Amino acid sequence: MSRFQSRTGERLRWRVIVQTAGRLDASRASRPLAWHLVECVAPTRLDAHCPEGQRMLETGGDPDGHCLIDDVCPRCAMEAVPVPPPPVAVTPPTVQDTPVDSKPGA
Ligand SMILES: [Zn+2]
Repeated sequence: MSRFQSRTGERLRWRVIVQTAGRLDASRASRPLAWHLVECVAPTRLDAHCPEGQRMLETGGDPDGHCLIDDVCPRCAMEAVPVPPPPVAVTPPTVQDTPVDSKPGA
């Protein structure tokens, strides 16, 4: 399903872009940094990022690495890769649906 194998130690390479487009405001705590992947083709273009990245770009200007590489967002792909599943088999709790004999007011 995914071409990205986070479990094999493959890492994403990052680059940070400092936005100096006149939006530097010392009174605001928002950092003028945008995190993109090294392979990001167009850090300033919304359509070069996955929906999550687009949302983050629009809200904070920082897609946090949600860049589309070959139409795939490695960030989302890595998060989609399941972490080694817990060894404990999850058994659904058995619901005791036995009818109550003593009805109140009966
Ligand atoms: Zn993404």
